[in-house]
This record gives sequence, C-alpha cells and structure tokens, in this order.
Amino acid sequence: MTIVLGIESTAHTFGVGIVKDGKILSNAKRSYVTPDGGGGMIPIEVAKHHKNVKREVYDEALKGAGIKEEEVEVIAFSQGPGLPPCLLEGMRFTKELSQKLGMPVVGVNHCVAHLEVGRVTGAKDPVMLYASGANTQVIAYASGKYRVFGETLDIGVGNFIDNFARYAGLGFPGGPKIEEKAKGGKYIELPYKVKGMDIALSGILTNLRQKLEKGESVQNLSYSLQETVFAMLVEVSERALAHVGKEELLLGGGVACNSRLQEMARMMCEDREESVKFFCPERSLLVDNAGMIAYLGEIMFKAKANVFQISELEKVDILPKQRTDDVEVSWRK
Ligand code: AMP
Ligand code: MG
Repeated sequence: MTIVLGIESTAHTFGVGIVKDGKILSNAKRSYVTPDGGGGMIPIEVAKHHKNVKREVYDEALKGAGIKEEEVEVIAFSQGPGLPPCLLEGMRFTKELSQKLGMPVVGVNHCVAHLEVGRVTGAKDPVMLYASGANTQVIAYASGKYRVFGETLDIGVGNFIDNFARYAGLGFPGGPKIEEKAKGGKYIELPYKVKGMDIALSGILTNLRQKLEKGESVQNLSYSLQETVFAMLVEVSERALAHVGKEELLLGGGVACNSRLQEMARMMCEDREESVKFFCPERSLLVDNAGMIAYLGEIMFKAKANVFQISELEKVDILPKQRTDDVEVSWRK
C-alpha cells in the first residue's frame, strides 16, 4: 500500500491530491482569478494566492481522501515547467511537509503528468494532444523519452483564446465563453497556420482582432476561431499518430474541456483507416490538478525516479523551463 500526496503550483492553480495504489482519492484545488475578470496573470500575485490558500486546500484533500497526514508516504510536487514564483510556493510547501512528516520527495514534470494520468481512462501508450493555457504540444513516448512531435511556435492555444476573448470584452478565462458564443455562428475564413508538425497562432490572433474592429460579430469569429484552430490541432495530432504508429489519442489541458475540440478529435480517430482509440479524461483531470501529480508521483516513487530523501532536500529545486524531453523516463520499459 502506497499513499502519495501531490502538489501542483505551475500556474494559476494550487492543488493538493492524494493517490493510493493508483487510485485518486481526492483532488482539491483553488484557481487564481483576476478580481475584475480582466487583465492577465501577474506571477507574484498568483504566488501570493497560492500561499494564502495552501493550508485550506491541503486540509480539504486529506479530509476528502479520509486519511491523516501521518499516513502519507511520499510527497510529489510539480517541479516544472511553470512560472517561477508559483513553482517556488509549491516547492516550499513540499519541503515544509517533507521535514515535518519525515517523507521523501518526488519531483514531477507537469506535462508528463497530464499524459500519464490518461491511464485512468484506459489509455496505455497514447499520443497526447496537450492543449492548455501556456502549453500546446503533441507528445508521445518513443525510444526512452516523452518526445514533442509538434507544438505551437508562438503562444499556447488557451492564452490565444483568452487573449481574443479579453479583446472582445468577454473576460477571463475566455475558453468557456468563446465556446458559448460560437453556437450558431457562421464560418468566416481565417488564416490556417500549420507548419510541418507545428502550428502558429499569433497571426490568427491579429487577423481576428482586425475582423472584430471592422465590425464582424463575436459570434461568427468565435465559431470560426474554433473551427480553424481546432482543425489545426487535430491535423498535427493525426500526423503524429501516423508518424509514431500509435493507436490511441489522449486529450489533456484546459482547452480540451471544449466539446467541439473533443468532437473533432473523436471524429478524426473514427475516420482513420487504422483504428485509433479516443480517450478524454474527466474535466477535473484535464485542467491543472494535483491528482495527476500524485498519480505520476506514485509511479516514479516505485521506480526510484527523481526521488529525494530528507537528507537530500537541499538538492531539490524548481525547473521552470524543463522540457518534456528532458525528463529521464526510467519508469517505462
Ligand atoms: P490549463 O492551463 O490547462 O488549466 O487550462 C486553462 C485554459 O483552458 C484557459 O486558457 C481557458 O480559457 C481554457 N479553457 C477552459 N475551458 C475551455 C473551453 N470550454 N474551451 C476552450 N478553452 C477552454
Ligand atoms: Mg497543465
């Protein structure tokens, strides 16, 4: 029996999750929202938020799992990539708990955790389309590492959507609002920017803003944004599937909460000649969360991967720019 407590703090969400023998028992979180619904994220402000809520999120996770803190065996935390002030807050809390409870620490890569937690849906060796605020990558395991087969060349798709939504006066986060607005919209041609396995979004953003200024409706632009950009994401995912010869597609990241993206990805899987199974975790595991950190933490702890004993705590540091393919994947054969 292994009980792992996970801590997530890469960006807007502070989370604590508890996993016991591969089962997520609790997944508590609080997400930073800007007071006026506008503006962006100021990392120092977000870190303050995390500091203020950490205790209540921690207590909620323990209570939700029905366990006492002494029963925890190991603490896993999101080591990177992410915003340094936010990551630091999570790491400080991790070290504090580790010292208090006498538990070892596991450093987990946030993006890899999104992929590994797909196992709870039944995905075994998928290509993952990871579409979140800051990150947009197509990732799969190949030759001993998680490799990025395609990614955005400029901004993450969630930030792109949020940026347009803010410009259109819809507030933050924009994703759910754009999805709502898109209903019943009409297609207007937008630039389509797939470059090999990668995509580019900033030119489309400029184009959308110009069309809005010329009086095009938010409804039509929201609809066209979804149709165009999601088609780009699905196209690069399909190409990655063909390239690595995998038979599963997994969605991850907050943008994957979008029903139209889910529908388009599912249709691509069904339409392919070689059968591809489609997997989409429940919402609480798509968005940033600590359940996935605890989940991968358990796997890594058992494989002795990136585990630090209490005597080695000073060696533990954040990795704000850690790349998916920097991770030593010793837990998979
Ligand atoms: P994450 O960084 O993975 O927590 O995801 C946050 C991003 O997901 C934000 O940019 C949101 O606007 C976006 N998002 C959330 N729900 C939706 C949705 N229904 N459609 C599109 N984007 C969404
Ligand atoms: Mg994420």
